[in-house]
Amino acid sequence: MADKRDYYEVLGVEKGATKKDIKKAYRKLAMEYHPDVSEDPEAGEKFKEISEAYAVLSDEEKRNTYDQYGHAGMNGFSQEDIFNNINFEDIFRGFGFGGSSGGGGGGFESIFDLFGFGGGRRNGPQQGDDVLYEMKITLEEASQGVEEDIEVPHKKTCPRCNGSKAEPGTESRTCDVCGGSGQVRQVQNTPLGQFATIRPCSACRGEGKIIDTPCHECHGKGIVRQKSTINVKIPAGVEDGSRLRVPGEGDVGKRGGPPGDLYVLIRVKPHQYFQREGANLHYEKPISFVQATLGDKVDVPTIDGEVELKIPAGTQTGTSFRIKGQGMPHLRWNGKGNLYVKVKVITPRKLSPRQKELLEEFADISGDEIYNEDKGFFDKVKDAISH
Ligand SMILES: [Zn+2]
Ligand SMILES: [Zn+2]
Repeated sequence: MADKRDYYEVLGVEKGATKKDIKKAYRKLAMEYHPDVSEDPEAGEKFKEISEAYAVLSDEEKRNTYDQYGHAGMNGFSQEDIFNNINFEDIFRGFGFGGSSGGGGGGFESIFDLFGFGGGRRNGPQQGDDVLYEMKITLEEASQGVEEDIEVPHKKTCPRCNGSKAEPGTESRTCDVCGGSGQVRQVQNTPLGQFATIRPCSACRGEGKIIDTPCHECHGKGIVRQKSTINVKIPAGVEDGSRLRVPGEGDVGKRGGPPGDLYVLIRVKPHQYFQREGANLHYEKPISFVQATLGDKVDVPTIDGEVELKIPAGTQTGTSFRIKGQGMPHLRWNGKGNLYVKVKVITPRKLSPRQKELLEEFADISGDEIYNEDKGFFDKVKDAISH
């Protein structure tokens, strides 16, 4: 690794190349050196080199680090860290390799094995992937908490072949190319000496055995995608965007590994009346200028009913009233937030001749005094009712 080439040079792009250019350059080179298609005996190494360059330069954070510190800056990343942001499926889609139709992508694992890390992953147990499920609930449900059965699609062991991949009643046989190890050793002679590389056996795709009659249900994958009904309890006070973990309900593990987890992403739908801010709710109440002037009692909706709010005489538009305890429940402790009711004084647009007459008379007898505020103009937040 002492004489590592510059990543930009490897991909043949300028220092200031855009993400798009970098991807384009990588795709082109990758098509040329992908070990599945290239005749070049060093294709594997070259493919790894360009892939590494691409992995770093396509990731903003890694690219910045590399631009500042060069290869030395990459020492803090493990090989897996470096490669984890490449979406090989995306890059090689439509090119006939690496993209098995079921979307499992067995070909990508072989790329990783080729790179010489994660070598244990092919043979060792591996935890299943986590599954994300988006669940939409109403604000009322978020306020009260909700228990619901959801149908979650995830990968499960195929019930027909019980994960063996072979049609029941048929036998799989040991691969005679690799002798059942799933790997083949390739020795290359170079001017510097012999290099041995270990690659997954292509005859059995690294499985070590050949299945002549694949299971009809899972088509030889050993796993099926199916929906399971899972009961989830959403606690009262849950916020939009929270994630609820349901252990063990993700995808099935590989080679006896534990299953992944299910994450239920909570989406609280917008409400027709209320804006939520943490545990507090906000509501805008339109009132007439007469109600604002003379005072009145009005009904305001709450998340679970209705309360009466007293509008004091002389209330200004924009005044906010706090109604204690009528907000959302706190998630982590007892009690609830508040409901803030902001009044909006509506100026009438259409007046009958009689109404106009009365208002003009009102103006006549009032003179300037209707503009003279006594006090408390900015005293906006007032406790209205209930503790
Ligand atoms: Zn099966
Ligand atoms: Zn084999």
